[in-house]
Amino acid sequence: MDFSDSPIDAAFRQEVRDFIARELPDDFRAAADVVLGVGIGEDERERDWLRTLAKRGWVAPAWPKEYGGAGLGVMQQFVFNEEMARAMAPRPNFLPIGLAGPTIIVHGTEDQKREHLSGILSGETFWCQGFSEPGSGSDLASLQTRAVADGDDFVINGQKIWTSGAHRAQRMMLLARTDADAPKHKGISYFLLDMKSPGVTVRPLTNLADTPSFNEVFFDNVRVPKQDLLGELNRGWYVATTTLDFERSGIINGVSLQQLVRQIADVARNGRRRDAGWPSVRYEIVERAIEAEVAIMMSYRVVIMQANGVIPNQEASITKLFASELAQRIARTAVKTIGLFGQLTEGSPRAPLDGKFDAWYRIAVGSTIAGGTSEIQRGVIAQRGLGLPRG
Ligand SMILES: Cc1cc2nc3c(=O)[nH]c(=O)nc-3n(C[C@H](O)[C@H](O)[C@H](O)COP(=O)(O)OP(=O)(O)OC[C@H]3O[C@@H](n4cnc5c(N)ncnc54)[C@H](O)[C@@H]3O)c2cc1C
Repeated sequence: MDFSDSPIDAAFRQEVRDFIARELPDDFRAAADVVLGVGIGEDERERDWLRTLAKRGWVAPAWPKEYGGAGLGVMQQFVFNEEMARAMAPRPNFLPIGLAGPTIIVHGTEDQKREHLSGILSGETFWCQGFSEPGSGSDLASLQTRAVADGDDFVINGQKIWTSGAHRAQRMMLLARTDADAPKHKGISYFLLDMKSPGVTVRPLTNLADTPSFNEVFFDNVRVPKQDLLGELNRGWYVATTTLDFERSGIINGVSLQQLVRQIADVARNGRRRDAGWPSVRYEIVERAIEAEVAIMMSYRVVIMQANGVIPNQEASITKLFASELAQRIARTAVKTIGLFGQLTEGSPRAPLDGKFDAWYRIAVGSTIAGGTSEIQRGVIAQRGLGLPRG
């Protein structure tokens, strides 16, 4: 197996490295965002970084050039993502850039593309994903939020839950049932909801790390204009699978996990922990380093399939499952490495890396649930990968 870049990809890798060395200030590196899932675009410094990336189309390198992206092929997107992760460069927020924008590019009308894409690229419009409901997560197609046609609008009633970023979003990718009598996958439509519409109520849910992350969202006779329907009426499930494919393939980057392990090793090398537990900690760090290499190999497999025009299926599930469970193991190793200091939170003067280990530990719990649980991924691997009968 030859892992070296082609001459074109090698030149591109160097271009990205030079760009990062020149443009990214050392003190502006978001080491933890692979676990914390924090995107950027909220303060002026982050917007500056977005503007710097935007000059080259690198806010959304995968988007076609005509929509403000860089139109990179699969291999160069991979090289770009690897180098950004290696440099711990802050990433534009995944929800608008990685999910909403690409779904609108695939399924939107020209008017919808004109209306929404530029605000996503500039960081002015933040999007949330209104898919899950209290009774519909893994079995998403059973969702019950209703949309009823009324004149030029649809009228929405119902509730979403676990909606990441809804408290700061201007728009929502919303799934609602438009035909209650059709089979469950065939009566759903996909809307681009304006979060300021009267009747939308957002109630924050505090996550384990005490950060405002996800929310409950309630709809009480919310009117959505018909031009905000994305794709065809009652065919929203097929639009949603586009969003879910982008989500599954973009969730965790192996190189980012490797950077976390390196940070743990740095802290361990310079720390004072040499008690009876130290030998087992050393071994754990080594295990995590090897596993991070494995995660990188898995993502190579997926990207090489994509570059050859093959759509990864159980391979994407394997990668998501392994990387998300590894993120949790890395978080546990991080906390174990520094012993009781691992419980110190952000702001404490004795907390290594300003309490990030504690935050990773608590936030990583959600990584095996978000974007499809580990059990669901195992089901995909069992049936589609190994041909096993249903459980
Ligand atoms: C950090 C985080 C962020 C999230 N952000 C968003 C968001 O922005 N937008 C959004 O719409 N949703 C979001 N979610 C919700 C997420 O998509 C759901 O939590 C997930 O799909 C699981 O659904 P559920 O919580 O309803 O659990 P359920 O589907 O009720 O599952 C409960 C348990 O049963 C198991 N189970 C269910 N079905 C099967 C099966 N067929 N075989 C084996 N086991 C099964 C599951 O694995 C799980 O252990 C987020 C979740 C988290 C943790």
